[in-house]
Amino acid sequence: MTAPARTVPALPPALFEEWSAYLKPEDLAQIQAAYQFSESAHHGQFRKSGEPYIAHPLAVANILAKWHLDSQALTAALLHDVVEDTEITKNEIAEQFGKPVAELVDGVSKLDRIKFDTQEKAQAENFRKMLLAMARDVRVMLIKLADRLHNMRTLDAVDLQRRQRIARETLEIYAPIANRLGLNSLYQEMADLSFQHLFPDRFRVLTKAVRTARGNRREVVTKVLESIERRLSENGLEVQVQGREKHLHSVYRKMREKHLSFAQVHDMFGFRIIVKDTTSCYVALGLLHGLYKPIPGKFKDYIAIPKANGYQSLHTTLFGPFGSPIEIQIRTAEMHKIAEAGVASHWLYKSSNTSLSELQKKTHQWLQSLLEMQSESGDSVEFLEHLKVDLFPDEVYVFTPKGKIMSLPRGATAVDFAYAVHTDIGNRCVAVKINQELMPLRTELRNGDRVEIITASHAKPNPLWLNFVATAKARAHIRHFLKTMHFAESVQLGERLLLQALAKFKTALGDVSDPQWNRLVRDSSAKSRDEILSDIGLGKRLAVIVAHQLMALGEPLPPDSRPAGAVVVRGSEGLAVQFARCCGPIPGDPIIGIISKGQGMVVHTHDCPVIAKSHRDPERVLDVQWDASPTKLFDVGIRLVVANQRGVLAKVAAEIAAAESNIQNVAVDPEDGGTYTGMRFTVQVMNRMHLARIVRDLRRIPEVVRISRVKG
Ligand code: MN
Repeated sequence: MTAPARTVPALPPALFEEWSAYLKPEDLAQIQAAYQFSESAHHGQFRKSGEPYIAHPLAVANILAKWHLDSQALTAALLHDVVEDTEITKNEIAEQFGKPVAELVDGVSKLDRIKFDTQEKAQAENFRKMLLAMARDVRVMLIKLADRLHNMRTLDAVDLQRRQRIARETLEIYAPIANRLGLNSLYQEMADLSFQHLFPDRFRVLTKAVRTARGNRREVVTKVLESIERRLSENGLEVQVQGREKHLHSVYRKMREKHLSFAQVHDMFGFRIIVKDTTSCYVALGLLHGLYKPIPGKFKDYIAIPKANGYQSLHTTLFGPFGSPIEIQIRTAEMHKIAEAGVASHWLYKSSNTSLSELQKKTHQWLQSLLEMQSESGDSVEFLEHLKVDLFPDEVYVFTPKGKIMSLPRGATAVDFAYAVHTDIGNRCVAVKINQELMPLRTELRNGDRVEIITASHAKPNPLWLNFVATAKARAHIRHFLKTMHFAESVQLGERLLLQALAKFKTALGDVSDPQWNRLVRDSSAKSRDEILSDIGLGKRLAVIVAHQLMALGEPLPPDSRPAGAVVVRGSEGLAVQFARCCGPIPGDPIIGIISKGQGMVVHTHDCPVIAKSHRDPERVLDVQWDASPTKLFDVGIRLVVANQRGVLAKVAAEIAAAESNIQNVAVDPEDGGTYTGMRFTVQVMNRMHLARIVRDLRRIPEVVRISRVKG
């Protein structure tokens, strides 16, 4: 036996009629179909309150209809829980109701899937941005807000713990979004409902206090209202005057933030005056300022300079007849509509065949025009920031495994995320799980992704990552690591090469003493031992030369341990042995020999900058040593700086001669009338000791300020 086919009910006639006031018949046909589709899909499901589930999407669609949203949005609202809660897929919705509707439903489902599970205040703002960035189409956010509003209205059926969580989330996330979009009445209702469920006792006390106060004030309010109406109509203005009650949550907030008593907050009358055009706003203002004196500094012209969310009105506060201030808002009917419904009012009377992109363009234009009107410095920066997130999403918001939200530039990959979390995580990442699924590290992140980086202790950054990372931070850290690694590797290579070179001296690297190293580092103006080793590894220095230098800087070797094959230089070898002009070695200087083609051996000092620069074939480098008693005198340059005084040159020359040296050449810098003169001597010496003696003697001359050996 099969069950008799169920007759799927149609839309309640009352709603059908209400919606047909602004929607076309063909739109209503689609909405009708969507309702029946949703009704069947949810058939057998019930809400916590016990009513059939379809009551919820229907109520959500009705909230949107109150804002006069288009038929696509209403259709999507009816279907908004179908993909999440039933077997129906996005494709089926696209086939039946078109792609734009399917996209809207999908957008809402995506928002539903991400949960705000941190208590941190700072995270709330990021979460709001994430939602706005994900929503893209403002209608997705409007459906989501209507959905949340209905859930708040029916929160009593939910258990206490869940109720508190939803109320807090609404207060921290959704109410501020509604406010940002200019949906004022939605914002107020959400805030008051949240307040009621979060602090039931305070809510009860405050409600009672407001009711009492209202009763006491009724007479006064009526009197003020009448006199305002009379004054305006006497002057030919068509107006509608409303008494205004502050919303409970804003009363509560004001009491808390400003430490005021209820009486202080509530002892204020509020009236809203709605006129037919902008000019009438200013006329009404003038008339009211004539009726009661305005309180100085309280007047605000939000018509000339609208608020960031599009709000326009004139605000003023008057000294009332009974000693209480009277707050007045003056606006046109159009401004009132925007104040209450905000962005939603821009969908009013929209034809259903408007395409998605046109809708987006309209929203964009609307926000753009707000931006242009916006000139209050306070809000504009914040507004710009949100505009960026809303419509030019160049940021992406993702979750860490602990539920923290991180914001990254659009295009950021898992590697960027890893470096944003911590440099060590970036340097060691090997894989990533995005929404529980293993993905390549180059995967671009999307809003709402939950990202978990997998690291390995020995992992290293890959140079290929530089091809896809989007953040400067990741790029800098990868580069830095690679550079450091390169350095470390070249130090290792340099060490091996030096080890080899030292083997010729039957010396191990460990035998080289710290003082030897330190002197070499200083003499060669390197920053560290590692830099010298790295230079060897990179071929900037020759291992053989460094080995020579180190050996030369060590303790004098006993004669029998002299390296075999070292060439002894006496200085009298003639053309076969030349002394390099660049460094002018003299006996006692650590030296090396270089065989050059056709020139024989040229002897350089170990630290000769010319050798260091040229990449010589190590094969051509020879061990050389000075003979114990060279037979030749060697030319060496010395430079002096002396005080300009008569006879100083003669004194210097005499001293050099007294030290048993010959002067080969003298050059004096041209006189420039200064206090000091530079002199350059080429003198002949036997060795370093001899030179040292000459220098010591010259220093004794009072006029000599500075002496240095000239090389090259
Ligand atoms: Mn829902």
